[in-house]
Amino acid sequence: MIVLDAGHGGGDPGCVGNGMKEADLTLDICERIKKRLERYQVVVSIAPRGELSERVKYANCCYAELFLSIHVNAGGGTGFESYVYPEVGTRTRKLRDKIHDTIMEYLSLVNVADRGKKEKNFHVLRETKMSAILLECLFIDHAQDAEKLASELFRDQLANEIHIASGHENQQHICAAGNGFVESAALRFSAAKECPVQIGSKHQPKLLTLAHQGRATPRVGWRCFRLQHGHAAHRS
Ligand SMILES: [Zn+2]
Repeated sequence: MIVLDAGHGGGDPGCVGNGMKEADLTLDICERIKKRLERYQVVVSIAPRGELSERVKYANCCYAELFLSIHVNAGGGTGFESYVYPEVGTRTRKLRDKIHDTIMEYLSLVNVADRGKKEKNFHVLRETKMSAILLECLFIDHAQDAEKLASELFRDQLANEIHIASGHENQQHICAAGNGFVESAALRFSAAKECPVQIGSKHQPKLLTLAHQGRATPRVGWRCFRLQHGHAAHRS
């Protein structure tokens, strides 16, 4: 399960500039990410927009595997940056690198600066029990950045990149649905266009065929699947 944290909201506008509020932008981007991830049977939810501790509690209580916090920056800079907690493990760092690189692959094409892979002791990164990554998506008070953020097309493309980057990947637990059954599955896959996948039920392993979605050329960080044949094993 992926929990999306739409930064601010619930009475807190976040940063403001160029006629926009951070809270509106983060929710819009998260809803676009959610809509896309749900097409691939990923269980995804947007955390309640209250206190930071409530958002964290929500993610911890539903045993999310990834907590992705979406923010928009302010304060005179320009570009994109990502954060992990300073004492975080290798798995989260690798996932962050993949997410950051995938998003920058797109953003560099539209002349958005890469401000780097950073670390910070943010509450939502420190207190969450799963991999947690925070993205600062451009600057609301920078003219060119704001122009992009105001564009629905840009927000949609940004959400698309984020959903690709945070989608299923090797050995990551995901949920596959089919024939009325839903089962958390440990997936193994190759770079092949289609690949047999063993569902991670100890009792009733089943083979599924999942098809890559989207672009013609598979690349690192692009791991989205749709159930093609078979069905998930029922948890016994
Ligand atoms: Zn923020």
